[in-house]
Parts: sequence; C-alpha cells; structure tokens
Amino acid sequence: MKTTTVSLFLSVMTMGAFQPAVWAQSVTDTPMREVTKGVYQHHHEFYTQLVVITKKGVAIVDPDGAQRSAKLQEEIRKLTDKPVTLVIYSHEHYDHARGGQIFKKEGATFVSHEKCRAALENDPQGQVVPPDTTYSGETHRLTVGETSIDLYHFGMSHGTCMTVVHLPKEKVLFVTDIHEPKGLTSAQYLTADYHYPGVYRTLKRIQAELTYDVVVGSHAPHSSPKAFNEDVGMVEYLYENVLQAVKAGKNAEETKQAIPFPPLNEWRNVKEWPAHVAHMYEALNQGK
Ligand SMILES: [Zn+2]
Repeated sequence: MKTTTVSLFLSVMTMGAFQPAVWAQSVTDTPMREVTKGVYQHHHEFYTQLVVITKKGVAIVDPDGAQRSAKLQEEIRKLTDKPVTLVIYSHEHYDHARGGQIFKKEGATFVSHEKCRAALENDPQGQVVPPDTTYSGETHRLTVGETSIDLYHFGMSHGTCMTVVHLPKEKVLFVTDIHEPKGLTSAQYLTADYHYPGVYRTLKRIQAELTYDVVVGSHAPHSSPKAFNEDVGMVEYLYENVLQAVKAGKNAEETKQAIPFPPLNEWRNVKEWPAHVAHMYEALNQGK
C-alpha cells in the first residue's frame, strides 16, 4: 500500500465545530482501515467514523456531513453488499449529525440519546435525519447481526447528550470530540457547552468501567489505548490542579500562572494550555 506523509492545514471556514490545528497525517490509498475483525474506522477530511460490518447489515457512528457520508457509503460498498441498517448519533452537533439521508434511503434506523432529540429534530437547514429511536439513562445495548454495540451516556460533557460507543466483545472504544491524542483542543472549541468537569468525569468513567484494546477518536487518523490514557491523565491533572486553586481562593489569572503544562512529550497545540486552565477554572469556580 502506498503511503506518504503530509502536513495538512485547514481554514476555519471549511470546518465544522471541531478542528485539530495541524495533523501530520498518514495518507493511504484507502481511508477505510480495519481496526479489528469486522470493525473499521473511516477517516476522511478530519473526521473519523466507526463502521461495524456484520452478516446482517452495517452500523456506523455519525454521518459527519453529506460529503463524508457519500464517501463512506462508497467505501462500505467495496467491503460488503449489506446495507447500512443502523446510524448512531454521538451527540447533537450538526457537523457530525448532518448528512445521513443516503443511509435513511438504505433503510437505516437512527439512534441517539433522548437528550439529543430536540436539537437533532430542529436543524434549521433540515440536513439532520431525526432519530427514529432514542435511549434514556446511562446505557443501552444494540445488536446488529452477531455484534453487540453498547451506548453509554455519562452526563453532560462536550454537548449535553454525548454517547460513547463500546463494542464489548471486540473491545473497541469510539469517542467523539472529547479525546484528541497528543493534542490540546483549539481554544475556539472550548465553547459554553464544552463542559470540562463533565468531560473529565466521562473520561474517568470510560477508563474505570470499559475495557478497550482499540481506541478510535472522531478526528484522529490514529489513536490507541496508550494515547487515550495519556489524554485522560492530562485532563485529570488539569482538573485536580484547578480544583486546588479554586479551593485556595486563587483568581483565574493566578491559576493560569500557577499551573504549567504537564510533562508530556510531543504534544501539539501546547500554546492553548492557558485557555484550557481558564475554561476549567470558570466551570469549577461557578459550580458547573
Ligand atoms: Zn461536537
């Protein structure tokens, strides 16, 4: 397989609600990569989708816009003639949720957490297929062919209705927008609904309750359990240190001065660290 390495830059105008600053991306002949038997990740234009191919049909997580879903459909056709029967929405943001119409035409059922429903039904551009069914509470098991797919909602994190996807038999973890391997999220995406203590709690619960040999992140061409755990460690360091600063009565500026970036090597976007400290500080100091 031909492989070249290129650095890719994107303008903000072409992106949705999340964007890594720079990826050193390995570009291969196909954007579809098998991560374990029957389970694939499809990485295209800075978005990564999880694809589960079974004898009965195909499940995907997030259409990620009309262009990417069309590309995904094309790639799935190279691997199976089975239709996409299940589309799982990770959360309510339209950059991930739009573009599922081509899978609706194949007969797919669309599933989200119930807290996503209102947002998914009210896309002003009408490009989001509303969920056919929703789940409530913390967990829900779906079955496609021979594969179980578990959905977990650990409360508010990035957005209000995040679903973490886990394949218990294959030990595959798929996380959207709350895990960037070896990189800090650009400050512009630390928005009001990027609830940092909730992100911390969600990451810690994943680590404590789920087993994973494979980790796929929604914007990364590659991740791993090691990269995921390192990322959780970074967020834990941030949470614990900011919490101590708030307890000590430090203001936001003093807190930024007091907490250096942790000793992690080869991380991208480290210049964004003060914004991360400030975002965590605001949440913890306001009882969020
Ligand atoms: Zn999002």
